[in-house]
Amino acid sequence: MKNIYMIGVGLIGGSLAIDIKKKYPEVVIHGISRKETTLDEALTLKLIDKKATLDDVVHADLVIISIPVDATVKLLPIVLDKISDNGLVVDAGSTKADICKVVENHPKRRNFLAMHPIAGTEHSGPSAAIPDLFVGKTNIICEVEKTTFKLQEKALELFKSIGMRMRYMNPEAHDKHIAYVSHLSHISAFMLGKTVIDKEKNERDIFDMAGSGFASTVRLAKSSPEMWTPIFKQNKQNVIETLEEYITNLTHFKDLMKEDDFDAIFKEMKETNYIKDILKGIN
Ligand code: NAP
Repeated sequence: MKNIYMIGVGLIGGSLAIDIKKKYPEVVIHGISRKETTLDEALTLKLIDKKATLDDVVHADLVIISIPVDATVKLLPIVLDKISDNGLVVDAGSTKADICKVVENHPKRRNFLAMHPIAGTEHSGPSAAIPDLFVGKTNIICEVEKTTFKLQEKALELFKSIGMRMRYMNPEAHDKHIAYVSHLSHISAFMLGKTVIDKEKNERDIFDMAGSGFASTVRLAKSSPEMWTPIFKQNKQNVIETLEEYITNLTHFKDLMKEDDFDAIFKEMKETNYIKDILKGIN
């Protein structure tokens, strides 16, 4: 692969660009973004070698789309229209069903690969891009059989080379499972942050009293609403289901408190400590 076009050069697009360039210095990374200032920043940070426009993707060996999922749904068919027969388009969106659906009948469907790298931070934009973000991380690939074998082979080799482990799933299963392990965690952090801010209007007090437990639990509440609103919109049904189960558990906990049933509370926490074993090796 010689010419890689990154549509979106924020945390994910920018971090992919850094690692790909490190592994393949001969590759030319072209950046495409809505705002000129974002591209300037990406150029200054050396995330990209050149600025480009959508019309240029006809020259691409690979296009990686890393923009909010609602924008991806709109842009993906247009990019596929423009890609050459030997070019591949990959998206990095955090939802997969709507994205796969929008191109299911596209004449160039075989030039598209749907992925979700399970890696990230709460930061966004080009300055959030960091090296080695994907080392040891899972990359979920959906509907791999719908992509031309030669193109999927090239892409999977590239993603393995920057440290990712592939997992294969259908888009619906992806969206259902990711609602629990990612989308619910973000809502939980946002609403925990809101609860504390609403109570303690003087933010200085929060800052003074907040220990590392609060900081690490609420970390995801710093995430970009521009990215997360479309994710919740696209995965609405699954997210509502997870929220209902979560609210049931919170209510149960509150009831045990009201009933002074601290033995049951101890037991609930003891059983949930099992999470230590489940998360062993995940940083
Ligand atoms: P990001 O750092 O905010 O970067 C996204 C870029 O998309 C921005 O630089 C912005 O460029 C552009 N953008 C924003 N709104 C747009 C719109 N409506 N139309 C076109 N471009 C737009 O976000 P990210 O964290 O890299 O996320 C990118 C994608 O990766 C999303 O689909 C997300 O679901 C997925 N993802 C995120 C994570 C994570 O933890 N953050 C993990 C895995 C996958 P301009 O400044 O030029 O507008």
